[in-house]
Amino acid sequence: CGVFGVIGVTDAASFVALGLHALQHRGQEAGGIMTHCPTSGFQSAHRFGLVRDTFTKAGVMDTLPGPIGIGHVRYSTAGSKGATQIRDVQPFFGEFAMGGAAIAHNGNVTNAESIRRELIERGSIFQSSSDSECIIHLMARSFQKTIPERMKDALRRVEGAFSIVAMTRTKLIGVRDPLGVRPLVLGRLGDGWVLSSETCALDIIGADFLREVEPGEMVVIGPDGLESHRPFETRGARFCVFEHVYFSRPDSIIGGRSVYETRRAIGVELAREAAVEADLVCPVPDSGTPAAIGYSQESGIPYAMGIIRNQYMGRTFIEPTEQIRNMGVRLKLNVNRALIRGKRIILVDDSVVRGTTSMKIKDMILDAGAAEVHFRIASPPTAWPCFYGVDTPEREKLLASRMTEDEMRDHIGVDSLRFISLDGLYRAVGEAGGRNNACPQYCDACFSGEYPVAPQDMLDKGFKP
Ligand code: 5GP
Ligand code: SF4
Ligand code: MG
Repeated sequence: CGVFGVIGVTDAASFVALGLHALQHRGQEAGGIMTHCPTSGFQSAHRFGLVRDTFTKAGVMDTLPGPIGIGHVRYSTAGSKGATQIRDVQPFFGEFAMGGAAIAHNGNVTNAESIRRELIERGSIFQSSSDSECIIHLMARSFQKTIPERMKDALRRVEGAFSIVAMTRTKLIGVRDPLGVRPLVLGRLGDGWVLSSETCALDIIGADFLREVEPGEMVVIGPDGLESHRPFETRGARFCVFEHVYFSRPDSIIGGRSVYETRRAIGVELAREAAVEADLVCPVPDSGTPAAIGYSQESGIPYAMGIIRNQYMGRTFIEPTEQIRNMGVRLKLNVNRALIRGKRIILVDDSVVRGTTSMKIKDMILDAGAAEVHFRIASPPTAWPCFYGVDTPEREKLLASRMTEDEMRDHIGVDSLRFISLDGLYRAVGEAGGRNNACPQYCDACFSGEYPVAPQDMLDKGFKP
């Protein structure tokens, strides 16, 4: 998901809509905006679909006045069951003794189900099926006198990944979990302040990037400026390495590094680790493009657009049902036949999850008359589900959970298939010495099976890491 918030500007909702539009790659199912203004109080709008289709119309935007606002774009993750209801769409709002507060959450609370069971037994009435809602209920039960203090109480009880943007009548609040699994950055826009999942959303509104909200930090921004709090016990940060590989936009800066540059470096590493003779290096667009550029630069094999993407389709994987996902690849990608015929092709993609995408692309490329097909993948084999906010399927559906690299190659039906090594990936994200196995610098659980936070709800259901 993507979160965004702004305070101290005229017409906050317009900035939030633009920010969410720049974060649309983080979630395309639905979006929501909430604002506050002294005369009409809290106002909100929650909509299915893309921000550019839903939050541009005067009819909606006119209902969202005020100098402070937050928003969310939704992508349903592991815990969510069935189709999204409009009441699952964030921001979520709660009315407390000291006034209202709204929150927008990116990540996944790994003990949300046990908290929900406990709260329901004690009388809480849940509205949605979202893991994030328990935060509002925990805030309601806190005895603290201010909303930031209630939020601290609530967040000390939840486990897992959370980057949260919240608002009260007068304050904008940003928090990251102690490991800082999901991103959150802070910017300035004139006299105003901005919080965003990624820097690309600061760029779109012309805000200046100030710094990242640090892992375990809460920033509270009000009329008197910014206060920084440290509500949690500190632990070593474990940022999601897959944000670098796939999730973030290539024009964003994370941890002082350009995401594009990291992806290009992954391609360079891949070319060193898994060289092969071929005529062309082609990306699986768009997610494989920077790595393909790096692979081509390092190997000297020409880069070409062998697959063309229809710009008007969303991300395949993000469509929630299997059937739509299956159709998705064909609707979205097509082979540039004239270029492929008779050539030995290296295809570079970011990841293999179920293997559906790779299989379809291989069919299309062979059908177009390629002489050989070699897959190079910009992440290690995805062998474990993510419980921290990326929608990977159950373990059994992950190709790499039941097959070796060679078996996957034969199953997909290509001449060769190679993944970047975990150490190669760490080098590409700037860790010259590779992965520190005693104390890894990132979360890489979907590749290593080492979960930095025990996924409690899943363990309760019998999941074995
Ligand atoms: P597969 O078809 O193997 O199940 O999925 C891999 C494809 O899904 C890749 O092309 C990747 O770009 C895309 N993808 C989209 N969203 C995600 C996501 O959240 N996680 C992963 N691992 N891949 C995703
Ligand atoms: Fe990121 Fe993978 Fe960790 Fe999930 S399990 S937070 S996708 S590195
Ligand atoms: Mg892709």
